[in-house]
Amino acid sequence: MSKPKSQIAVGILGATGSVGQKFIQLLENHPWFEITEVVASERSAGKKYAEAANWFMPGKIPENISNLIVKKLDAKLESRILFSGLDASVAGEAEENYARAGHIVVSNSKNHRFDDDVPLLIPEVNADHLQLLKSQKYTGKIITNPNCSTIGLAMALKPLLDSFGLEQMNVVTMQAISGAGMPGLPSVTILENVIPHIGGEEAKIESEPLKILGGLENGWVKNLDLAISAQCNRVPVIDGHTESVQVKLKKNATREELINAWNSFVGEPQKLELPFAPRQPLHYFEQADYPQPRLHRNLEKGMAVSIGNVRECNLFDYKFTVLSHNTIRGAAGGAILNAELMVAKGMVG
Ligand code: NAP
Repeated sequence: MSKPKSQIAVGILGATGSVGQKFIQLLENHPWFEITEVVASERSAGKKYAEAANWFMPGKIPENISNLIVKKLDAKLESRILFSGLDASVAGEAEENYARAGHIVVSNSKNHRFDDDVPLLIPEVNADHLQLLKSQKYTGKIITNPNCSTIGLAMALKPLLDSFGLEQMNVVTMQAISGAGMPGLPSVTILENVIPHIGGEEAKIESEPLKILGGLENGWVKNLDLAISAQCNRVPVIDGHTESVQVKLKKNATREELINAWNSFVGEPQKLELPFAPRQPLHYFEQADYPQPRLHRNLEKGMAVSIGNVRECNLFDYKFTVLSHNTIRGAAGGAILNAELMVAKGMVG
């Protein structure tokens, strides 16, 4: 594994938002990355970060960030890596411009996820998809993170796919409020309530796993052939997306075999011992009423996925529950792991 000889300068695009703030919180004291630039909208540009951001993370804004002057989206930047938590309305073009200017853009936005030459990366699941970068025409690169619900789900599906094959999958999500960004939903809308619709979310969950779990053929991803149905709900939980999943497998498997496949699953980040890698990416809990967002979202600093309550299903083969932290594993933490993987593989010069 290659380790950087000195700190790599990184910038945060969309630094004032929900994901941007999480980047700032998580990157404090990171062994490889140091935030040197923050970027947001015209509303924030020109102000000190502490004045521009409505900081809502626990604890203070890290001292080295508070006084950084927020830059405009078209500003020329110096940082080698740019972590993007930009609103999707501006992310597409801005990320391309920065990649053309030579930056490595590690994005959380949906805009480039389905570009043929852009990896939709979960390092434990499809690290080999980094090969797509050889086809990118930018001087820099663009790498994307999947949707916050897709990440936990695809991680839980990967060992099942490898050991037993997947034929059909149904998922119902219960998604946290922080997934809606800042300032989020009005309290009168979400308190004591469930909203059975999240714009565009079902389509993302029904399509993204097919690219992520697809194999490489002649240097390109061949999507997995799997029928997926998704229903998405917003629930009054601050952080942590919970998902009720049903799967039909290609091969027979016992409940114990599924649990073993989850508990023993590891990928490149664990082998490379990357700084943000959870020791064990998937944890199965035997208690029938686990996992729960309040109890398990911060497992392994929010980077591990919790699974529980696997049982036989009358319609499919098995049903179970998956939980992951949407702004850590599902966004900023996942993006940091993507960048660490690239550094470890010598792809960040
Ligand atoms: P958010 O809280 O609304 O933050 C959006 C950020 O984009 C802010 O920093 C905002 O700056 C900036 N921005 C908005 N319009 C801009 C413009 N015209 N020019 C430059 N900057 C602009 O959203 P979020 O929840 O952090 O999500 C950010 C991205 O990550 C979205 O694409 C979202 O889909 C994706 N994502 C979110 C989650 C999650 O759990 N929240 C998970 C995975 C992926 P100002 O403050 O200056 O307006």
